[in-house]
Amino acid sequence: MKLAFVLCPGHSGSTLLGNVLGAHPKVQHIEEIPAPVRTGLPLGCLYCGDSTCPIWSESILELVRLNCGAFKRWCLSNKGWGIERVRALAMRKRDETLAPCAVHARIMAGRPNLTLAVDTSKDLEWAEWNARAPGVESKFIWLQRDLRAVVGSYIRKYGTSMNVQAEKIVSTAARTREYVANKPSQDVMVLHYEDLVLAPKTHCERLCAFLGLEFDVRMLAYYLYPSHLLGGNLGPIIESRTASGKSHEDLQKYTNAREYHTHGVPGFQLDERWKTELATATLSEFDKIGGEMNRTMGYR
Ligand SMILES: [Zn+2]
Repeated sequence: MKLAFVLCPGHSGSTLLGNVLGAHPKVQHIEEIPAPVRTGLPLGCLYCGDSTCPIWSESILELVRLNCGAFKRWCLSNKGWGIERVRALAMRKRDETLAPCAVHARIMAGRPNLTLAVDTSKDLEWAEWNARAPGVESKFIWLQRDLRAVVGSYIRKYGTSMNVQAEKIVSTAARTREYVANKPSQDVMVLHYEDLVLAPKTHCERLCAFLGLEFDVRMLAYYLYPSHLLGGNLGPIIESRTASGKSHEDLQKYTNAREYHTHGVPGFQLDERWKTELATATLSEFDKIGGEMNRTMGYR
């Protein structure tokens, strides 16, 4: 099985990138598997809402819960916490449904025309657990975005302070850099969110070449195709719901995201609200924490 993991701090455009890739007829986009299990909200497809989902059936959702449990035990044992107890649980529940990639494999097995699953869960441990599964060929896309835009988006959504968000985001970016540095270079591609949005065709062609796919023009109109996701940024999900004439009333049940905005015009649009929203003083606070990291990624 071929898997591609999109890695980045949250709010870097990973849902957009996943939807762009997912519009390719040979690709299945799978997003945010471990995160929504932790919220306590009903687990369900954000695109289909209360209707039946062709991807996330009840039996696959049950598999997601089991698989996330196995993943959590692996993380705990890796951190050296309660190893004996974890081992005992793992032995008791040893079953192919609990193995890494069980969810990806089940989804792909029902779709013989697909050749690649794109996972935008953005969780490095989750990526590593699944990428090590036997028979899996993994690629990694490090999606970079100006960290000031990422921090600005967090502040806008959650109202928290620059320092708290900047520390978190810069640390995720640094961990991602270290993670991909340890992968074979031919398995890693760096993509800038801004480049994708400003020159989508060029960068979709680059992505396809890297992933061993032929470029498909549907990627440029990604919002016209269903986006069956359990979590992630609601903007691109709402775009595809709007394009298919769905209302958004049932969304609240499945997500604790606060924004239910609809984009005026669907498609690639550069979001640089941070340039007007962040005050000069806030930007200099950011610079102390994340300026250097941001410059190493090419942002001045
Ligand atoms: Zn669905």
